[in-house]
Parts: sequence; C-alpha cells; structure tokens
Amino acid sequence: MTSPTIDLRSDTVTRPTPAMLDAMAKAPVGDDVYGEDPTVNRLEGLAAEMLGKEAAVFVPSGTMGNLISVLAHCGRGDEVILGDLAHIYLYEQGGSAALGGVHPRSVPTQPDGTLRFDDIENAIRGDNEHFPISRLLAVENTHNRCGGRALPVEYMDAAGQLAHKHGLKFHVDGARLWNAAVALNVSPDRLAKEADSLSLCLSKGLAAPVGSVVVGDKEFIRKARRMRKAVGGGMRQAGVIAAAGIVAMTEMVERLADDHANARRLAEGLNRLDGISIDPETVQTDIVIFDLDREDITPANLSAGLRGHGVLLNPIGGKRLRAVTNYHISEADIDRTIQAFGAVLEAGAQVTDKKVFTYG
Ligand SMILES: *Cc1c(COP(=O)(O)O)cnc(C)c1O
Repeated sequence: MTSPTIDLRSDTVTRPTPAMLDAMAKAPVGDDVYGEDPTVNRLEGLAAEMLGKEAAVFVPSGTMGNLISVLAHCGRGDEVILGDLAHIYLYEQGGSAALGGVHPRSVPTQPDGTLRFDDIENAIRGDNEHFPISRLLAVENTHNRCGGRALPVEYMDAAGQLAHKHGLKFHVDGARLWNAAVALNVSPDRLAKEADSLSLCLSKGLAAPVGSVVVGDKEFIRKARRMRKAVGGGMRQAGVIAAAGIVAMTEMVERLADDHANARRLAEGLNRLDGISIDPETVQTDIVIFDLDREDITPANLSAGLRGHGVLLNPIGGKRLRAVTNYHISEADIDRTIQAFGAVLEAGAQVTDKKVFTYG
C-alpha cells in the first residue's frame, strides 16, 4: 500500500472542503454581469467589509485581480513602481504592460519583502516631458519570493502614506494577506488601511477552488469592473464558485495558523540536515524557501528524489527550492517529509560515489 502524496508545491493545490461543496450545491445564483447573482453579491459585500473598503469585485484569479487593479489606476504610458521580486513583475506575463501600456519601474526587493522608502522616492518621476507619469506604488503582502514574509502594519501605513504624499495610488497584491493578518495577529482591514486597492486570493491557503477578490472605493471598483469585462472576466452564474469563497473567508482564515506552525516545523527540521540552509526564524507564514548547498545533488535531483518518496515540491531557480504548507498537510506529513529529505540527501552522496546517481 502506498501512502498518499504530500503535495507541498503550493497552497493553490488545496481542494474544496465538504462545507464548500455543500454551499456550492445550495447557492442561489443569477447573472452576475447583470449584477443579479445574490451569492456573488454576498461575497463582494463580505470582502469589502472584512477589508474595511466600500466595494469589491469577484474575479477568476489573482493575476486578473492585479491586472484590472493596475489598469483601473493607470492609463497608457503611466508608470507603476514595484519590487523586482514582485509577483506582478515576475509572474504575470507583464500583462499590465502588454495589455494596458503601463510601464513597470522596479526597485530592489529587500529580503523581508519590503521596498526601501528611499528607493521608492528616488523612483518617483518629476514633471518632465521625458518621463512617464508615476501613478501607482504596488507592494506584496505576504511576499511570495521572499519566503512568505509578512509586511507589518507600520510598514504598510508608511508605504501608503508615502505614495499618497506624492499623489500616487497604493495597490497591495494581497494574494496571501490573510496569512499576513494571522501571522501578525491583526485584522486584515488594519493592514489594508492606507491601500487604495487590494487583490486577495480565495483559492490558496483558504482552499476555495477558484477565485480572488479586489477591494477598494466605489469609484475604483466601478472602473475595475469595467476592466474585468474587457479582459473577459465577466462571469454569469458565478455564485456556484463564490459560495465556496464565502466559506473560505468565514471559516478558513484562522486555521492558517496551523499551516504557519507546520511551515516553521519543516524549516527547523530541514535546517538540521546536512546541505540545507534556512533560518527558521524568517518563516512567518506558509512558505518555506531554502537553499541546497551540495556539490553532489542539484535542486532538480532533490525534487525528483523526493517525488520517489511521495513528496512534491519545486525548485525555483539557482540553489533554491520552495515548499508551501496547506490545508491538506498535517504535522505527521511534515515529519515524513523531513525523513524523506534525510533519505534522499544521504542517497545522493552514496550513489554519486558509485556513479550510478539517477533520479526520475
Ligand atoms: C498566486 C499569486 C498571485 C496570482 O494568483 P493566481 O490566482 O495564481 O493568478 C498573485 N500574487 C501573488 C503574490 C501570488 O502568490
């Protein structure tokens, strides 16, 4: 008998809970492009309330949430200032440039996921016909590529105030803002206080099957809703999926603390192994990014070897790999994962000595 796979590739692999499936089956629906889907309307009302904003719009993905936010804030030739490790900058096909003509200006992302205020201020353009117009500052919380670091309230407030002082809007890629709120023990609306817009995923740690939500003031959401339609995101009886999103926001936020504890346990276990380096103290939420420092085994080899033990996780470039805990991962799974790492790392050295090292 084989044991079930331990899938640590992402928190996006989470499947809907029984409560979600039940809510989906029973959801009252209507045509949401006409504004007539009661379940979508309920989800949007709830998201706006939880984030302390006037309005919200439900979208199929976090990528679309960020895209329509940037397009609603910026016109062609305007500039968005963001971090060089931001998801919007690295992993969204440059959609706001490709589709909206919005120019990205990147500044260095610090290891804790923040952007330095000096760097932001130096990137803001003066009034000169050579320059694009600086229109938007975007930050990411939690920060994916920085190992799920949670940006604290003081930083979020100060970044938003800095943007506003210079007449810029402030967007937060809050795909995992729920994780930040739980890790920092603050309510999500407190982290959102200075933000003009936020995009939050329901289908990552919160385990809904599909969907993200964008929040902001009524005028911004009116524009974002128009942009959603333009990029093909107007959905019809979307209450079927929104129902799961409501369960996600009402029942699945507090349990993220379990994912965070499991991620810390994983980091502590990995840090004890020969050839893996990670500072467990930096693991605040559900993402564990670590370096493999071994001559005899590459991240791709390690990942393939772990697959043979039923453990899935991905290399993310260079010496790095990423593991993400989630709803389906128990403390026992973490311990099994650490054992599998130990076995693969040990075999890595042995088989290399015999020159028969092959994996997948
Ligand atoms: C996952 C993610 C997104 C995009 O979400 P999708 O639903 O996969 O399109 C945006 N920003 C960050 C930081 C993410 O981790």
